[in-house]
Order: sequence, then C-alpha cells, then structure tokens
Amino acid sequence: MSEPIKLFQYNTLSALMSGLFEGSLTIGELLEQGDLGIGTLDEIDGELIVLDGKAYQARGDKTITEVGTDVKVPYAAVVFHQAEVIFKQRFEASNEELQTRIETYYDGANLFRSIKIHGTFAKMHVRMIPKAKEGARFADVATRQPEYTVDNVTGTIVGIWTPEMFHGVSVAGYHLHFITDDHTFGGHVIDYVISEGIVEVGAVDQLDQRFPVQDRKYLFAKLNLEELKEDIEKSE
Ligand SMILES: [Zn+2]
Repeated sequence: MSEPIKLFQYNTLSALMSGLFEGSLTIGELLEQGDLGIGTLDEIDGELIVLDGKAYQARGDKTITEVGTDVKVPYAAVVFHQAEVIFKQRFEASNEELQTRIETYYDGANLFRSIKIHGTFAKMHVRMIPKAKEGARFADVATRQPEYTVDNVTGTIVGIWTPEMFHGVSVAGYHLHFITDDHTFGGHVIDYVISEGIVEVGAVDQLDQRFPVQDRKYLFAKLNLEELKEDIEKSE
C-alpha cells in the first residue's frame, strides 16, 4: 500500500469561532505538512491560500501577498494534494451544479477530500475576514467582512470538503479559497460561475488533528457549543 494521504489540520474551527485568533503555528511549519489548503492568519487578518506549496494572504483591502515562513496562523488545513479524479468542465456551471457533479465521484460521504479547480470563472464572489482582536466573536466580525465579485478571471480554487460528522472540527461541506493566476485577486469563496476548467478531487486517508497545546487560552477556553453551532451556520 502506498503512503497514506494525510490531511493536516491545525486547531479547530470551533476554537477560531470562539475568538481564539492568535497565531501559534508558523507558515514554515505548516508548509511542511501540505502544498494545498486554506486557513487564516494571526488576528484573522484575511484568508490564507496555500497553492503549489506557497502561502498567500488575501486581505480585506483586496491586496494579495505571499506570506513569509515566520508568520503564524491560528487555523489552517493543508494536504499534499494527490488527484484521484480529474475531469474537464467544458460548459458553464454554477458552483452548486459543479459541486453536484464533483460529488458523483465521491466514494460515500464519510471521507475528507481535497479540491483543486483551475479554470476561467465568469463570476467569482469572495470575502476576506477583516483583522480583529482576540476575544471578538467571529460571527460578529464576519458581519462586516468585505465581499467582492469579479467577472471573467482565471485562477485556482483550493480547499477541503469535510464530511458532516466532522462539523465543528472544520465546516461540513466545502471550504474553498480562490486566487487568480496573476495573484492579484482572491479570498474565501462564497459562490461562482465557472466557464470552463480542470477539476481535481483528491483522496484523504488520514486526519492529523493538531492542537495548540501550549496556548493557555485554548486549553482553558469555555466553549459555548450551542452558540458556536449557530455562528458556524451564519458565517461559513
Ligand atoms: Zn475560508
């Protein structure tokens, strides 16, 4: 049997939603664990996009920069993406339509998947979480996050599909980020219309869930799980 494909997840969405925004893992350490993925930066300063082994930060002011290896993240999920299914999307489709097609290639609904879609998008609608201080409620910050829609862009969607039973560890379903080929536009994907592109669905055999074990705030945080569930519904 070949090496298992491991999804590396740092911290949990629930912790992030509770206001634990302080970064505690470096980008350098993160990139040792995968070449494709998503996350956010210290103080939730924008969206983290990991593509082809490089990390990019999409901020609320619509700028994109490559992130240095010493920058820290509070939450991220990466994998060494290996496409199991590759297909060409040759006609225009909404995100719902494409996602329905993607899911026909899944073996059941209980495994994580990595997703990579390179193509031209007739419409791409993204948001970027704005920087906020530790302790603020993510759902409150999310109500004032900038959103942008652009037409006819070429770029890559990267991300993870999470089975329902892992909701809370991350968000169930798709968590996708986008970056254009020229690295001038990107963010957390809300919806899109693809014109055409190549869709890759990657297998995941293992979940490596890491915790910020030296972060006292995480260790002793009292999580209000009911409130968290509502917040995740609202903001993801
Ligand atoms: Zn995101």
